[in-house]
Amino acid sequence: MIGPTRKIVIIGGGLSGLSAAFYIRKFYKEAGIKPDIVLLEKEKNLGGKIETLHRDGFVIEKGPDSFLAERAEMCELAKELELDHELVSTNPLAKKRYILQRDKLNPLPNGLVLGIPTELKPFLSSGLVSFGGKIRAMMDFILPPRRNDEDESLGELIERRLGSEVLENLTEPLLSGMYAGDIQKISLHATFPQFGQLEQQYGSLIRGMRTGRKNKKVQEGTTQSTFLTFRKGLQSLVHSLIYELHDVEQRTESNVVSIQAVGSPSIYEVELENGERLLADDVYITTPNFSAADLLRPHMEVTALEAVDYVSVANLVMAFNKKDIVNEYDGSGFFVPRKEGRNITACTWTSTKWPHTAPDDKVLLRCYVGRSGDEQNVQLPDEALTELVLKDLREIMGITAKPIFTEITRLEHSMPQYPIGHLDNITEFRKDLAASLPGVYVIGAGFNGIAMPDCIKQSKLIAESVAKQLMNEM
Ligand SMILES: Cc1cc2nc3c(=O)[nH]c(=O)nc-3n(C[C@H](O)[C@H](O)[C@H](O)COP(=O)(O)OP(=O)(O)OC[C@H]3O[C@@H](n4cnc5c(N)ncnc54)[C@H](O)[C@@H]3O)c2cc1C
Repeated sequence: MIGPTRKIVIIGGGLSGLSAAFYIRKFYKEAGIKPDIVLLEKEKNLGGKIETLHRDGFVIEKGPDSFLAERAEMCELAKELELDHELVSTNPLAKKRYILQRDKLNPLPNGLVLGIPTELKPFLSSGLVSFGGKIRAMMDFILPPRRNDEDESLGELIERRLGSEVLENLTEPLLSGMYAGDIQKISLHATFPQFGQLEQQYGSLIRGMRTGRKNKKVQEGTTQSTFLTFRKGLQSLVHSLIYELHDVEQRTESNVVSIQAVGSPSIYEVELENGERLLADDVYITTPNFSAADLLRPHMEVTALEAVDYVSVANLVMAFNKKDIVNEYDGSGFFVPRKEGRNITACTWTSTKWPHTAPDDKVLLRCYVGRSGDEQNVQLPDEALTELVLKDLREIMGITAKPIFTEITRLEHSMPQYPIGHLDNITEFRKDLAASLPGVYVIGAGFNGIAMPDCIKQSKLIAESVAKQLMNEM
């Protein structure tokens, strides 16, 4: 039987906020507490960064486009929402990925996992790294591991183990692409902690990655698709959550401007821009860190939140007639290393990677602009930005045709950059928050992982642990 009612306010209606509502309902109810939830989103629509556009038979992602299949959180949530039948894998014929080197697209060597070579023959025969660079990378097998496990930058670890050429030509374009970040500045522990652990465990990054890969294949008995998405776009997940959360009051255009403690034990007043005030026992803040910092600054030190810089990026989705594109694309796209000095940072051959996203006689490409230290183009007017991107496509891929349409999405201050020491900072911050404002929690891409599954995982873990704690207190 459901016991006392608890008033909950969730601030932010992106995936973190929506999945927090989903798991709060589940775990609070299991703990015998009736959750009375209000979810507040400042924009007109829910979903945050996730937005899918359907146009002329195309499925266009304006924000994230897929997720790593090995991350169970997303598939589990899809299953709970009975949406798992909509999951689609990448085209198995589009496994190849390319990298731009001296204006030419070169295939990435087989077995490159997260920018680390796990198959030696293809790596040693690849033209992307010089003979000297390969010898340097092989020193990974003999170099002693680092003595301590303190945080460092992702770039420092890769350079130390594999040398600067592998870093610049292979790892940097792949990994920094995920964060639009500067690999020399972002925290190893907060992004790819497994690299440091493998170094310690196996004495070599390559050996560790190879062993992990072999074990995984044996366990799965197959090499599955690396990425998944939903047939009608990622927004299906948002729509399913909105539908499932029918008993949650979902309010858009509701900008939260302050949180005040108004009672003991911990009751909060959440104030909206229009002056309305809502009372809450528990407040879950799921906004980007800079917005969370504005709400929490009057109550506590927020340096850990302010230390996370957010990079602005844009993507241009371009549709073409297939007959106008001279080259065949046999892969999922290409990455552009910084030193190539291009306007685009990567390009996904979307309709090859995900055939369901375009009619058969059309081609859909998605080009990315902006990364840490190189964000100025994001703000260019549409026409100028399109021209820069088309120039790159012409020079790199030989595309001279005009796109049928171009869909531009600017995501300002959207990609969190975890600084070195981020995880420790956040752990300390959460402790301070619990002491200063018990019952107020922070979740989101700025904390424990930027990918969508990371956001779901945080929501689930925090909702479950709060529900348990409340049950013990009853
Ligand atoms: C271009 C891009 C591509 C990406 N690609 C991928 C990908 O392919 N795969 C993947 O796994 N991840 C990807 N990501 C990461 C992933 O999309 C995000 O980390 C995730 O969607 C963040 O969800 P969130 O709810 O934490 O934040 P958000 O989506 O930012 O939601 C936060 C919400 O809070 C609202 N808000 C802010 N302040 C207030 C306030 N004061 N009051 C009320 N509401 C407020 C905002 O309007 C927003 O809707 C990508 C991100 C970007 C930017």
